[in-house]
Amino acid sequence: MQCPKYASKAKLANKNVIINHLYLPPVSYSQWEEISVMDERNTPMRTYQVCNVMEANQNNWLRTRHISREEAQRVHIEIKFTLRDCNSLPGVPGTCKETFNMYYYESNNANLWFIKESQYIKIDTIAADESFTQVDVGDRVMKLNTEVRTINNLSKKGFYLAFQDLGACIALVSVRVFYKKCPLTVLNLAQFPDTITGGETALVEVHGVCVNASEEFEPPKMYCSADGGWLVPIGRCVCKPGFEENKDMCQPCRPGTYKASATDAYCTKCPPHSSSPQEQATECICEKGFYRAENDPRSTACTLSVVLKERRSKDSVTLAWQGPERPNGVIVEYEVIYYEKNQREQNYTVLKTRSNMMTVEGLKPGTTYVFRVRARTDGGYGSYGGEIELETSHEGINSNDLFFRHCGYIKAKQDPDEEKMQFQHGRVKLPGSRTYIHPHTYEDPNQAVRDFAKEIDASNIRIERVIGAGEFGEVCSGRLRMQGKREIYVAIKSLKAGYSDKQRRDFLSEASIMGQFDHANIIRLEGVVTRCKPVMIITEFMENGSLDTFLKKHDGQFTVIQLVGMLRGIASGMKYLSDMSYVHRDLAARNILVNSNLVCKVSDFGLSRVLEDDPEAAYTTRGGKIPIRWTAPEAIAYRKFTSASDVWSYGIVMWEVISYGERPYWEMSNQDVIKAIDEGYRLPAPMDCPVVLHQLMLDCWEKGRSDRPKFAQIVTILDKLIRNPASLRELANSSFSVSTVDEWLDAIKMGHYKENFSSAGYVSLDSILYISVRCRLAGFSA
Ligand code: AMP
Repeated sequence: MQCPKYASKAKLANKNVIINHLYLPPVSYSQWEEISVMDERNTPMRTYQVCNVMEANQNNWLRTRHISREEAQRVHIEIKFTLRDCNSLPGVPGTCKETFNMYYYESNNANLWFIKESQYIKIDTIAADESFTQVDVGDRVMKLNTEVRTINNLSKKGFYLAFQDLGACIALVSVRVFYKKCPLTVLNLAQFPDTITGGETALVEVHGVCVNASEEFEPPKMYCSADGGWLVPIGRCVCKPGFEENKDMCQPCRPGTYKASATDAYCTKCPPHSSSPQEQATECICEKGFYRAENDPRSTACTLSVVLKERRSKDSVTLAWQGPERPNGVIVEYEVIYYEKNQREQNYTVLKTRSNMMTVEGLKPGTTYVFRVRARTDGGYGSYGGEIELETSHEGINSNDLFFRHCGYIKAKQDPDEEKMQFQHGRVKLPGSRTYIHPHTYEDPNQAVRDFAKEIDASNIRIERVIGAGEFGEVCSGRLRMQGKREIYVAIKSLKAGYSDKQRRDFLSEASIMGQFDHANIIRLEGVVTRCKPVMIITEFMENGSLDTFLKKHDGQFTVIQLVGMLRGIASGMKYLSDMSYVHRDLAARNILVNSNLVCKVSDFGLSRVLEDDPEAAYTTRGGKIPIRWTAPEAIAYRKFTSASDVWSYGIVMWEVISYGERPYWEMSNQDVIKAIDEGYRLPAPMDCPVVLHQLMLDCWEKGRSDRPKFAQIVTILDKLIRNPASLRELANSSFSVSTVDEWLDAIKMGHYKENFSSAGYVSLDSILYISVRCRLAGFSA
């Protein structure tokens, strides 16, 4: 399918711009005469007439002066004339004509006074059209015929026009020569100049120039068609950081807002505890006492220098913090000062700790306290971080206790076991929390779409370019403008033509599933177009595409904290899905999308996708099609798909992320993978992988599904790691930072094998890489 270039009213006007009205400067000779007459509105005008109808063998020429073609290759000639009907002239002989001929002669010479008849090229024989009218001589009123002819592929400086009369009664009233231009226009923030159209069929390719304060996202290009219309816009410019698009221009972000990347569509409000006092901000500066880590996306809120996380009960508050970004020495201890809000003068308490966590006890229930933390280094005290206000819980309520409450009728579940498990684990849905409803539980699947997806009018969507291929058709990027809302970038999946009813249902089932979710780490559904063709699913646009490709492209470029941040996002999205009792079944880096802020979102919710769509899916002995490398053994063996099998897949995603998109189990065959897993082998830690992360992967790959962590626990573990980056320092395979084989053997406490290695020919680290992988594979057997 070709993406429709414009599905909206934003369609470019295909307007002909007529310029260069060149009126004929006639050079009259032979029998043509210059005569003044009145037009229909009684305005006098000049005409050239010939009417030698009574005599045979006429050959009368009227020629123009040289007409410059300027830069046009294609020129149009509009002539207005009257032509007498021979029958209306009493007694004329049979030689009377009702046509005349029009010719041209191309020349660089603007001063030719003689051109041979044989040199002219005939444009056409001109006859009066149906509106041929008689000249009312009595009133001296004439009705005009208008004819337009085109000369193509002109290449010399200009041309002469000539009219040949062979015995008709003609009055030539006007000759207008013009060419067409595609008008100057701005599209997708690129300016396209006034462009003269090309020759007969040629489209003129025109490259746009990015408007002020914008830069090329993809080279902007359009074609100027022969009739003066712009066609096939490709590419676009985007506003530079600090600027946003407004009416074909880039305007500076207003104070209080910022735009960090050119590919962000709009300036956004500064995140909490930050500001941008000047226009054109590319980031917001943290307020005094608040900080944001260097590697954090600019959209991250600024936090107190040291307080990151808190937990409350009715009489205690637990604070955990990260040390200052750049301490002025070794941190000796932290000082926490707290007081009841508005009571500082009366009573405040100072506590000290060496750890970066503290539980403050003995507080009053339902009371707001103010906390501040500062670090003491061997160089003295640092400044206090900003104030953080926390209210203790009210008497009788403990925020960490959830009482069992039956949450009523659950409409549909993917797996009855999952439901039981929820109650067994005492995880009870809070009133108001939702459960995923499988679209197949609807008798009418269209009703599911209506219930969960907003219908969007196709005229609000502007499709811009193809970005990928989906199971049902191409995926394009474009923009969506809804009434009263800002235009946003979106991804548009279309259902290719010629689909069956079932395909349409399956295609839209993804929207009815996605539409039930609302979470920062789940791809957001904007809506669907079902009332006109092609049927489309519109989702938020993820600038960096799918995670596997993105990581391969940026191999080794992120800090471990950034990678853990991505994993944390995915785990958080998966926690949300599992809370809604949705089992994904195809969690893999290729099904995670990444936006410009490195936020990862879970995607790919089609019903048939595991069976049909995923190229990784392979047939199992039981007939189902399953992405073997990502799937838990019980799901492969007897299709036991649960949130716990999603956790297994999550472990594989962790491995993919830390190894920057390496293929799990490399080139091993699916059969070998199944066998190896069954025998207890597990993927070894990727290069530079912190021990704690590999341990978490191994936990996700526990054979017993109830032994695997839950997504909620994974989120908590990752949060702790992010809070305490030191915990990520110990690498699982630090032996790879050594530079010789001997050093490596020493590092793994096998120094006594040095001789054996060198005599076996293992002299370089490269040569041991392969055996080390095998050793480690074996080393992880259960
Ligand atoms: P899918 O049919 O969902 O697997 O999409 C096919 C491809 O289109 C993906 O691998 C992405 O490269 C791209 N794609 C799909 N959805 C989006 C989106 N929301 N934003 C950016 N790219 C997307």
